[in-house]
Amino acid sequence: MAVTRTFSIIKPDATRRNLTGAITKMLEEAGLRVVASKRIHMTRDQAEGFYAVHKKRPFFGELCDFMTSGPVVVQVLEGEDAVKRNRDVMGATNPADAAEGTIRKTFAEGIEANSVHGSDSEENAKIEIDFFFKPEEVVG
Ligand code: ADP
Ligand code: MG
Repeated sequence: MAVTRTFSIIKPDATRRNLTGAITKMLEEAGLRVVASKRIHMTRDQAEGFYAVHKKRPFFGELCDFMTSGPVVVQVLEGEDAVKRNRDVMGATNPADAAEGTIRKTFAEGIEANSVHGSDSEENAKIEIDFFFKPEEVVG
């Protein structure tokens, strides 16, 4: 299996509860390596641009409110089959549906405040990494 990269966000509900380390530990224990990381407060423009694919969804406005409600930690993760590996440890979007031992089952507050974002394909991972990081900020 090839070593690839994915993009992750530790969301405002998690930074507010001081879970950056606990979540990063779960990512690392799942075989992912943090090769870039920074704590930022997303602007409205960044949130709307990042979630542009969801523009038509009824929760788009609220989602952008939530993602700009506090600091987030944006990360690039590297590992074998990183996109799937990360999605597996994240768990389902709705924590009520997430498997035991996943980040969302363990920490999420609800379907919106679900603690983490993870890219859903290698193609989107590249786009999302480029959205937040310059090439020289990613050090594998
Ligand atoms: P995922 O983050 O699991 O890839 P989606 O891409 O479908 O899920 O949705 C992006 C984010 O939008 C979710 O992580 C969550 O924060 C929010 N969201 C998704 N569905 C809903 C919903 N029905 N109500 C409110 N927020 C939602
Ligand atoms: Mg998604």
